[in-house]
Amino acid sequence: MSKTTKAVAKKQVKTKASTKKGTAKKSISTNYVYAFGKKTDGNATMRDLLGGKGANLAEMASIGLPVPPGFTISTEVCGYYYDNGKTYPASLSKSVLKAIKQIETQLGKSFGGRSNPLLVSVRSGARDSMPGMMDTILNLGLNDVTVEGLAEISGNPRFAWDCYRRFIQMYGDVVMGVQARSEEEEDPFHEILEKMKRKLKVETDSDLSTENLKALVDQYKALIRKRTRSAFPQDVFEQLWGATSAVFSSWRNERAILYRQQYAIPAEWGTAVNIQAMVFGNAGDDSATGVAFTRDPANGEKVFYGEYLINAQGEDVVAGVRTPNAIAKLADELPQSYRDLEKVRNKLEKHFKDMQDFEFTIEGGRLFILQTRNGKRTGLAAVRIAVEMQRERLMSQETALLKIPAESIDSLLVPVFDPKALKAAPIIGKGLPAGPGAATGRIAFTAATAEAETRKGNKVVLCRNETSPDDLKGMLHSQGILTSRGGVSSHAALVARQLGKVCICGASEVVINYEKKTLTAGKVVLKEGDYISIDGSTGLIYKGMIESADSEVKRVLEGGLKANKSYTYELFQTVMSWADKHRTLNVRTNADTPAMAKQAVAFGAEGIGLCRTEHMFFEGERIDIMRQMILAADEVQRRSALKKLLPFQKKDFIGLFKAMEGRPVTIRLLDPPLHEFLPHDDVVRRQLAEKLGVPFDFVIDRIKALHEENPMLGCRGCRLGIIYPEITEMQARALFEAAAQVSKGKKAIKIKAEIMIPLVGFRAELADQLAIVHRVAAEVMKKHKVKIDYLVGTMIEVPRAAITADEIAHEADFFSFGTNDLTQTTLGLSRDDMGLFYDQYQSKEIYNQNPFASLDQTGVGKLVELAVERGRQTKPNIKLGICGEHAGDPMSIDFCHRTGLNYVSCSPPRVPIARLAAAQARLRNK
Ligand code: PEP
Ligand code: MG
Repeated sequence: MSKTTKAVAKKQVKTKASTKKGTAKKSISTNYVYAFGKKTDGNATMRDLLGGKGANLAEMASIGLPVPPGFTISTEVCGYYYDNGKTYPASLSKSVLKAIKQIETQLGKSFGGRSNPLLVSVRSGARDSMPGMMDTILNLGLNDVTVEGLAEISGNPRFAWDCYRRFIQMYGDVVMGVQARSEEEEDPFHEILEKMKRKLKVETDSDLSTENLKALVDQYKALIRKRTRSAFPQDVFEQLWGATSAVFSSWRNERAILYRQQYAIPAEWGTAVNIQAMVFGNAGDDSATGVAFTRDPANGEKVFYGEYLINAQGEDVVAGVRTPNAIAKLADELPQSYRDLEKVRNKLEKHFKDMQDFEFTIEGGRLFILQTRNGKRTGLAAVRIAVEMQRERLMSQETALLKIPAESIDSLLVPVFDPKALKAAPIIGKGLPAGPGAATGRIAFTAATAEAETRKGNKVVLCRNETSPDDLKGMLHSQGILTSRGGVSSHAALVARQLGKVCICGASEVVINYEKKTLTAGKVVLKEGDYISIDGSTGLIYKGMIESADSEVKRVLEGGLKANKSYTYELFQTVMSWADKHRTLNVRTNADTPAMAKQAVAFGAEGIGLCRTEHMFFEGERIDIMRQMILAADEVQRRSALKKLLPFQKKDFIGLFKAMEGRPVTIRLLDPPLHEFLPHDDVVRRQLAEKLGVPFDFVIDRIKALHEENPMLGCRGCRLGIIYPEITEMQARALFEAAAQVSKGKKAIKIKAEIMIPLVGFRAELADQLAIVHRVAAEVMKKHKVKIDYLVGTMIEVPRAAITADEIAHEADFFSFGTNDLTQTTLGLSRDDMGLFYDQYQSKEIYNQNPFASLDQTGVGKLVELAVERGRQTKPNIKLGICGEHAGDPMSIDFCHRTGLNYVSCSPPRVPIARLAAAQARLRNK
């Protein structure tokens, strides 16, 4: 390395570091740089400090896999960088110089040297991998001088100039910000390249001669100068620090932030930066680069899966610019390298004990491994890989359970296209199946359109030429993603799979024209907004909308398919039975109808934890009687309406008790703000007046009288039953009458009824309602000469209830945490109105997670813990559950387990997820 470059590097870092000297907010360790190669400092357990990529590179180097040497700048430096105005710790430059020197010595190359120059890659690497979300630079160290050195030492000037033009393109884009200025615009470097190919009438990049590439380098440099008013840097250390800063800065780019929110990755973790000697997959026809998975990440099958390109660099594969070959073809093209790869595949799985996704490069027939990580996979693949690896004794049952993201169970239950409708649908093309499932929607050509259309309530399929991580936002809003270029390991395909999105890529016969807003497949031309359907399991693309059908698992559960005909069902059952063996939390469901209850039981629900009785009144003639009851001017009118409602309620409760076949059923008394049941426009109000046979003015006057400024904090919950005791009486009577009827006769079912009083904040409120319930229970039991097993409890939904849980527990047989309201009342945040500002809160990362989706453990969670502790002080055996939406969220379930609740109660489709999450919580917290 030349003296001048060293001096520049030192000066540059020193200047930056010294501007903020002494202002570091955090103290961090003094070791910032960890080498791998002949001498390796780290290992796989050091993910927090080295990031996943750095830790695994170190591990691979130490088990003898062929890893090019390099070093990792730790995640602590990322924290320092942001805390100190984007500067570095003063000693970093020295450590980096030392680490570069080590690589130079190991390889006999020189960074910035004229002969045999060392080139490096600069890559990100967070604790959890965030594929494609941050930046990468390859071929760093090339300049007008070293490119000649590379040409000489390789004896291949074309290769050297190809590397140089790639480097300028990447550096210009990532570090200097020369990019497409709108979604409609092509990448400007790509545009220059394509223009040259068109002019020379050549098809592929490899048809370009050395002279062409030199001309391309000049054009790229000119583009950079024009756009940035700066020259492309010739100093290799300036390049190195520019790239390092760009990678650290990319931790906070828009797509990385969005990805972190999606996967609850804390902003404080930061990324590491990996600097590694380059090896060249573009050094000739005995060179190649590729990405491989030790098993199929789409369906989990134990087959070697992946793709490669001969004479290319890694980015060509993942960025989807060229469509690569399937890995099996490598056995014909480079048989020895294929055998070497198979060996690596086995060694990686045995060592890391999980499906690996690894990047490799073959340089002149020699194999190098550049990265390995636990492979992202679809939900189906996650289940299959865990079950099969347990059967192969690669992991224990406990580990296998922990390896399956609980949410992924969902993808075994998602709909597929209705087979009949599918047969009739016109196929217009085929691509690579990259994310299984069935998706139908309107075509959207940009992420922004996808988002806008979904906000309007339309379903969309995002159609793009190539998969780019910038599409993440659009992908989140789409049913599926279709691309005309790129392979199954392109960034967006990985992300789509992980999101559980249906995805087809590399549909080469599909031509997408952003300007004309058309998608052409053969003779068919579709416009933006037209319907398209894609099958991410087969790769087939269809014109129009196709009905979808239930998944195999669902069909087996509902009796439409025999269990032994479905391997997917066998996998599902295996995981569920393991989960049930390990969990201690019970899983109930929130169900209001017998059909919902039956579905939940098929999914494994062990009871109903919440029946919202107001939901029983939404339909048909019931809503009118309900409205009559609400509008009643006095108790007599109200009782007359309640008398009409009673038979409906009784019938519904009978249905629920029967569907649950003796499992506990928690019925919550009427809760909602009354205005939810009242019509808002005058036409419907007039119709209501006519139906009820009352004057229109009467309806208007009553609606005015019932108006509330904050209905969520108004006359709802137990307040309703307290001011109108006849409502509680009717509901209790319907329930006990139903229980009495079902518990008698030939098909008698032993009833376990639990009556739940909502929104209690005072012991006296609960006592008031309890008296009515017990009185009615005694009357009904006496009348029918039966004994009904019942409990009466309360929801804990307001902070006062949690704080005074010791008092309230005197009256209650059980508590059920209504964490929807408890979140609302603790955060002072309306359940219905947070949409107005939530986007901003998300982008500022104020909430790690939506507090209505995942329990705010440090705030609301403290109240739950307090109530558990105080409730048990009074009644050690009090039954404790949760029935807010959080009960179906794996992280919140983990909290419920740790807090010692007895059950969680979630919506029916989430029951299997909750069963798995409950088992994982137990295993994690053993
Ligand atoms: C709750 O508040 O968490 C709850 C389950 O009740 P609802 O959502 O019906 O208010
Ligand atoms: Mg509530």
